[in-house]
Amino acid sequence: MSKLLNEVLDANGEYAANFGDKADLPMPPGRQFAILTCMDARLDPAKYAGLAEGDAHVIRNAGGRASDDAIRSLVISYKLLGTKEWFVIHHTDCGMETFNNEIMGELLSGSLKTASVDESGWHDCCEGDGTTDGKFIEWLTISDQAKSVLADVERIKNNSMVPADIPVYGYIYDCKSGKLIEIPEATAAGRAC
Ligand SMILES: [Zn+2]
Repeated sequence: MSKLLNEVLDANGEYAANFGDKADLPMPPGRQFAILTCMDARLDPAKYAGLAEGDAHVIRNAGGRASDDAIRSLVISYKLLGTKEWFVIHHTDCGMETFNNEIMGELLSGSLKTASVDESGWHDCCEGDGTTDGKFIEWLTISDQAKSVLADVERIKNNSMVPADIPVYGYIYDCKSGKLIEIPEATAAGRAC
């Protein structure tokens, strides 16, 4: 068995041994809110937003972008599970700022192996076969974090399935301090009405 798999299963054994009354948690989030945020390994929404099991929905993807699939989850979150307030939280030093659709398409064309990055950008190792399929995907990369938070809040608010009375708050998590920094234009765009 891989070392990592062992570590994860050991950690889970300890977690389950102290599971306590979490077995009785209801499915709907107790604090009735949802967070859309980046998958970046440095971000722990449970810690940065003070969540316990059962509190909130956390929807994560690369960049914390309001993709069609993120909106699918948010709609389920309120329509079936009763959340009433949502956060869009991007972050400083996001990997999604380091490439664009063209770069990703080229990297995948060169090879399927992990690329490397340095001051001059991304480089493919050029081992093995690549694919042109990556050239047909919108990767939802980011060139300006404040603008991407605003764009995502607006995209969510403008969706016909999202009721006007759900406020959407726009924030950037600062990887250097752990602080959440509001993007006022985004929160304004996300006002409930
Ligand atoms: Zn990120």
